[in-house]
Amino acid sequence: MGRNPRFDVLFEPVRIGPVTAPNRFYQVPHASGMTNALPQVRARFRGVKAEGGWGVVCTGAVSIHPSSDDSPLPFASLWDDKDIRAHALMTDAVHEHGALAGIELWHGGACTLNRTSRLAPLSPSGMPWLSTHLGFMGNLRPRAMDAADIRDLLNWQAAGARRAMQAGFDIVYVYAGMGYLPYEFLLPEYNHRTDAYGGSIENRVRLVRELLEVTRDAVGNRCAVALRISLEELRGKSGVDAPSEAHEVVQLLAEIPDLWDVKMDSSPTDCAPSRFSPEGSHERIVNFVKQLTKKPVVGVGRFTSPDVMVSQVKRGILDLIGGARPSIADPFLPRKINEGREHEIRECIGCNICISSWHDGVPVRCTQNPTAGEEWRRGWHPERFEAAKSGSSILIVGGGPAGLECAVTLARRGYRVTIADAAKEFGGRLRFETRLPGLATWGRVVDWRLGQLRERPNVNLYPGSELNADDILASGHSHVVIATGARWTKMLFSTLEFPVGELEVPGVYTPDDLAAGIVPSGPVVVFDFDNYYMGGAVAEQLAKQTAGVTYVTTAGNASAWTFMTNELPLVHRALVKAGVSIHTLQRVTAFDGAAVTLADVYSGAEKRLACGSLVIVGMRKPRHDLYRALVARDADLEAAGIASITRIGDSLAPGAIVHAVHSGHRYAREFDTVVDSIDAELPYTRDFPV
Ligand code: ADP
Ligand code: SF4
Repeated sequence: MGRNPRFDVLFEPVRIGPVTAPNRFYQVPHASGMTNALPQVRARFRGVKAEGGWGVVCTGAVSIHPSSDDSPLPFASLWDDKDIRAHALMTDAVHEHGALAGIELWHGGACTLNRTSRLAPLSPSGMPWLSTHLGFMGNLRPRAMDAADIRDLLNWQAAGARRAMQAGFDIVYVYAGMGYLPYEFLLPEYNHRTDAYGGSIENRVRLVRELLEVTRDAVGNRCAVALRISLEELRGKSGVDAPSEAHEVVQLLAEIPDLWDVKMDSSPTDCAPSRFSPEGSHERIVNFVKQLTKKPVVGVGRFTSPDVMVSQVKRGILDLIGGARPSIADPFLPRKINEGREHEIRECIGCNICISSWHDGVPVRCTQNPTAGEEWRRGWHPERFEAAKSGSSILIVGGGPAGLECAVTLARRGYRVTIADAAKEFGGRLRFETRLPGLATWGRVVDWRLGQLRERPNVNLYPGSELNADDILASGHSHVVIATGARWTKMLFSTLEFPVGELEVPGVYTPDDLAAGIVPSGPVVVFDFDNYYMGGAVAEQLAKQTAGVTYVTTAGNASAWTFMTNELPLVHRALVKAGVSIHTLQRVTAFDGAAVTLADVYSGAEKRLACGSLVIVGMRKPRHDLYRALVARDADLEAAGIASITRIGDSLAPGAIVHAVHSGHRYAREFDTVVDSIDAELPYTRDFPV
């Protein structure tokens, strides 16, 4: 099937200074957790996106000097000529598919605490970023740059640009965003200087202008020079000669860069979670830029719908459709649109597990795309699969994320697959969770997989089919996969920070009870030591149904782990807005039907909180009764011709959806195959610096 002519505009080439992007699909710079120590992993990860049709593929932040050292967070470097080869692997992989390669040269300024290089951080005026989160806190304050430091910075940028050119990049960035050094010069909160680089907006823009000029001098006509800039704060400040300082900055620099890459200022608004922000949420900030420059403009907004992309171009908001998360969730998004297969796009769900991988300091992981980061080390291509090696037929019991992903991948390999679920609808935990506030978009995990399964003749779908061991023994399949998920328990939390006991008294519930339709009588206490989204989302939901909801957690914040996914500040805001009162660093120790007893996790000091019910969001345990019943029947299995029984997903080890999907995918990839790694003892090939 050919491309829908409605989308033709997306496939027009776009001139960017001396180079031309083959189409409007632009993978903007984004963190991948892949440092120079993982050059092959990184090259393949980026190269697959070029193969999937992205016309421009960029790096993440690449440090230009040891004074921009973000450790222990992962970052790439181009500090000297020895760094060039690692990047050249990526440009080769991108060029192989006719795409342009871009590099985001970066200096973190006061945001990077130089924990490894031990250099004093640089800043316009010695103003630190005093983060509220431990992961970003530090004790070393930045020093104010003098004139010699500014000259050094310009030299580092120029040297970085020359090396980038040698590594084969086509687009070289000046990065003035997200709190990093050039951005700090733009903002009066950071920049208190009284020299030519501070004060008026013309002076505050001077450093960015000079960075653009030295980059241009370094690359001549070989590469385009891009400016990436955050405009959110500037748009909020009124300008002297224009509606805002953002307008003034764009006017002052209008035709100097070859490309404007425009974005928000902080990770939670820039990489906004779908739970709190819709597709296209940047538009209200970046919509004016094209009116002030003739140069092409790229921006993001978690775009996955080709109609929305066309609208961005036709309405004059953007020239190039930027994608970070959509390109991770589906590296082949452009190609699918080009081939008239847009319904096959595996749309990003906006869960931000990808960004959590960066916070964790590991290569990118994605809920929707289990092959992200695995392209090289496990040889998993997102669209190509090893063909079936036998006529085996596989029965999958449980149609949650793990079972569905396992079924899709086995089916794509050509195996005969049957998937059964006790519930009338497939989806597992997502049947309930997508009904919680803001989580509807996560239903794409189920929708995409069911869409794929329904199209394939080698798949049988059996919803509404609760299977027991006898059913399975009689089913005639050669392999059985157990994907029966996990259940929430009523366990409490001990002083040793372990789950302990089960609070089996009336009026105590778990998320499974809420999923089954129980509405607890108020006032309700939600006790959360799971710390991901469930506790906060349940409290927000209950506040709509009943008066008086209190959220209690052993952690220091509500839904504490959602810091990793950029959701934490928004969770707090949502709970406060919903009227939920928040008690942190407390554990529930008892419930007598009229009140819970809380104990401070450090001092043990107790207090009572009146309530009618308690919802515990804590420990999950695998639902593995069926597995145990089957493996206990060795002889029957052999007689039934069942060669293997394997648990995947939450029924093996309860985790987030990303873990379940990866587990299901891995089973299907490795079924009937010998895992091909250099060291047979390892499940994947290890990468080494070049
Ligand atoms: P995961 O995240 O590992 O995919 P889920 O909890 O989301 O796990 O999904 C597990 C699914 O398994 C649920 O939809 C549940 O209805 C189904 N299930 C559990 N036990 C059985 C069974 N005996 N027969 C059929 N389906 C089952
Ligand atoms: Fe999108 Fe979630 Fe994948 Fe990130 S991890 S790309 S937010 S689906």
